[in-house]
This record gives sequence, structure tokens and C-alpha cells, in this order.
Amino acid sequence: MKIISVSGGKGGTGKSFVATNLAIVLSRYRHVTLADLDVEGPNDHLLLGVDLAEEEPIKIVNPFVKYDDCIKCGVCANVCDTGAIVMTREKLPFVMARLCSGCRSCVLACPTKAILEGYRVIGYTYHTVVNNNLELVTGKLREGEEHTPPAVREGKRRALRYARDVLLIDTGAGTGSHITLAIKDSMLLIAVTEPTPLGAHDLELILEIAKEQNIPSWVVVNKYGIGASEKIFEKIVSIARGYEAEIIAKIPYHDDVARSIVERRPITFKNPDHSVSKIFNDVAHKIMGVI
Ligand code: SF4
Ligand code: SF4
Repeated sequence: MKIISVSGGKGGTGKSFVATNLAIVLSRYRHVTLADLDVEGPNDHLLLGVDLAEEEPIKIVNPFVKYDDCIKCGVCANVCDTGAIVMTREKLPFVMARLCSGCRSCVLACPTKAILEGYRVIGYTYHTVVNNNLELVTGKLREGEEHTPPAVREGKRRALRYARDVLLIDTGAGTGSHITLAIKDSMLLIAVTEPTPLGAHDLELILEIAKEQNIPSWVVVNKYGIGASEKIFEKIVSIARGYEAEIIAKIPYHDDVARSIVERRPITFKNPDHSVSKIFNDVAHKIMGVI
């Protein structure tokens, strides 16, 4: 089983558009599990036109204090690096659940075992069968929850349960630990960018993260030709070259693509002979050549 990640740093570059269409084309040759790990706003199911199914909760440790056993030492507050434990005026610890990442450091550090482990649900994972050769696993945080890493970890763990030939990971935006976790163990990272100054800037960040993990990268330039100056594209070429990342596709903006997104019918499914679909075919063939 091979893991391939689709990421891009900046939000709105079209990662999900690329990931879903690539998943459809690849699934004509191999079994594909698409993991939507953009846990703060997963939308691959919307692009694929399917409803989320088979919900499972994502639970993290929710520590609570047994005050009878607390000696008011403050160790728990000191080890908590998310600031979830504050000491009250009475020198008793108070846990703010929303800030707690469930790391268990306080539980382990408490000298009197006064901190016990409860659990709380921070989100859900879903498993949706799209067709015989394509399954979608989605990680989704509950409204107001901020702890993306545990949700990404759980979404990936669940996706690995179904992965057979290819696990295609659609990461969230950004370059934090949730991205590092999502792309870990990938054999290839496909960085999706757009020809804007911010797109070029974030491309460099995501390529750097991939390099740190020894993951080779390819670049897809989405929305190519839409108001972009040649200078910015040259910059993207130069950044990609600096990371030995081949630019494997330039996907132009096309009204038919916008329409396919609105209709929830991916262009590669709706119109396999479309010029944009042919670009995805080429990318899929290139992937087939390395997996
Ligand atoms: S580490 Fe344990 S004993 Fe110390 S303040 Fe926290 S709960 Fe109380
Ligand atoms: S589990 Fe970790 S994040 Fe949560 S309160 Fe304890 S030390 Fe802080």
C-alpha cells in the first residue's frame, strides 16, 4: 500500500479539487482510499457528491481533578503546554476542557494521582463507499474544537483500516503539526499551488516540510493563467526547482470545472474527455509509473 499526500499550505488553492479528481481517475486502475484530513472543514464528500456515512466518535482524554487527593503543588499547570490548567486563588487546579489537547502530561506528572482520565468527543470520522474501487474516510472536528492533530491522527488511523493499494491523503491548509502528521510516511507529496504571491510563498513552506520528512514532491499549478503574471509563475518554477520538485501539471481555470463543483459531479467523472480531465489522466499515469 502506498501513501500519497495532496497538500499546499495556503487554503483555497484547490487541494480538494485535485485530490478528489485524482482519486476518481486513479481508482480506475487501483483501489483508492481517499482520506479527507482537512478536519476543520472537510469537503471532499461534497465535491464527490456523496453523504458522510458510518460515523465514529473521536475521543480524547479529558482530565478531571479529584480534589480530595490534591496537595496544591501546581505541577499539573506547569507541565500543561496548552494552558488548559489554571491555578485558582485557593491554589487548586482548574481544567479548561476546550484548551486541553488530551496529551495526558498532567495525569502522568501529578505526584498524588489526583488527576483522573475522562474522555470527551472532539469530532467524528466517517467511512463512505463511493464506488467499488474508491472509499472516502473523513475526519471532522466538532464546531468550536481546535485540536486538529488528534482528529488528523484518528482520521488517518481509520483510513489505514480500509487502505489497500493507494491511500490518498487530502490535508488541511497550513503548515503546522496537523500537516506533518497527515503527510507522515507518504512516498510522494503533491503540492497544489496557485500563481499568486501567497501561493508561491506557501508552496515553499510545504515543500520544505516535505523535504524535512524526506518525501519527494511534485507540484500542480491550479488556476493557471488566471490573472497571473509571468513573473509569479517563474517564481514558482524557481521554488520548485530549488526543491527538485517537478511541475507535473498546470490546470487552467475553466467554467466547466466551476460548474462541476457546483453540481457535485467531479469533472473527471462528469466528462472524462474534457481537457481538464485529460490533465488528471496524465497525472494519474505518472503516479502509476512510480507506485
Ligand atoms: S499535580 Fe496533582 S496534586 Fe499537584 S496541583 Fe495538580 S492535581 Fe493537585
Ligand atoms: S491532558 Fe495535556 S493538555 Fe490536557 S490538561 Fe493535561 S497537560 Fe494540559
